[in-house]
Amino acid sequence: MKSIYDYPLKKLETYFETHGEKKFKATQVFDWLYKKRVRRFDDMRNIKKEVIETLKSDFSMEPLTIIEKLEDIDVCKYLFSLEDGNKIEAVLMRHDYGNSLCVSTQVGCNMGCAFCESGRLKKVRNLEPSEMVLQILAIEEDLQIRITHVVLMGIGEPFDNYENVMDFIDIINDPKGIELGARHITISTCGIVPKIKAFMEEGRGVNLAISLHAPNNRLRSRLMSINKAYPLEVLIPTLKEYVDKTHRRLTFEYILLKDVNDTMECADELSKLLRGINCYVNLIPYNETSHFEFKKTRKEDVLKFYDRLKKNKINVTIRKEFGSKVMAACGQLRSHHEEGK
Ligand code: SAH
Repeated sequence: MKSIYDYPLKKLETYFETHGEKKFKATQVFDWLYKKRVRRFDDMRNIKKEVIETLKSDFSMEPLTIIEKLEDIDVCKYLFSLEDGNKIEAVLMRHDYGNSLCVSTQVGCNMGCAFCESGRLKKVRNLEPSEMVLQILAIEEDLQIRITHVVLMGIGEPFDNYENVMDFIDIINDPKGIELGARHITISTCGIVPKIKAFMEEGRGVNLAISLHAPNNRLRSRLMSINKAYPLEVLIPTLKEYVDKTHRRLTFEYILLKDVNDTMECADELSKLLRGINCYVNLIPYNETSHFEFKKTRKEDVLKFYDRLKKNKINVTIRKEFGSKVMAACGQLRSHHEEGK
């Protein structure tokens, strides 16, 4: 059965119209779901009994089940179980500018990046829009907070689940829904070129981040197998086109791996690759995991890399480290939970 949380407003309007009802019912239902946050169809008090009954027979309204929660000062990590028993993670980060939630988009991931815990579990299935929406609702209720920013950087590759991710964005971006501004939503992709092109045509105003992690094909193909399908000479021109078309600044994520991609040569090569693109580089301290050999770059070397990019006139920031104590690296909590069994 479909969940009521799978439906963007437009699709819910269509649903009502095909059932011979006025489409404003969709707005009323949205109001109960996302503004008043009721948990049962029976609590939607301005909706007729017959309509409630039809809704009940057509949709489920089940929340996600929280099965584990790990808390630190500025971070809170959740493990959820889905209706079919699969498990996913979400991480809430408290920044000075607001509460940012990192949501998962798939159960497992097929991208197979050499350093990433998520990909150790191959993709089992895509998440439904509801399963992404409900990560937000569950955590807002559990912590009694408002989430102000959403990043699609949890388990999964958002552009490998394109339609559901777009429906999810419609629901959270809708002023009648969760009402998160497009500028407060960031999609992160490993670089699936055809989907970057499709996304560029939609003109949604949502931020785009690219997991780059290497300045040349030799190294990038070693770290990220997607680079064999869409190498830099295909990816970079697509991104230039994206910036030209959308007038939005791009983010490049760059995990620093000790002695792998953190040399001064890499910094110079990266600067050259990105020169002239309206972008900034977000340097990410690697979250070490027991399953891979990679080590994190030492603090002073992170700063040297940062300085070199600055000197080369590349906009650069260093990502604040969250949650290494609570196993916040993508996929770590799920994988740890499985091993504990
Ligand atoms: N599939 C998408 C989004 C999920 S990963 C993508 O590739 O962008 C979100 C970010 O976390 C990516 O940049 C990913 O490369 C990075 N990441 C994965 N494992 C990590 C780790 N152990 N430490 C730090 N960052 C990691």
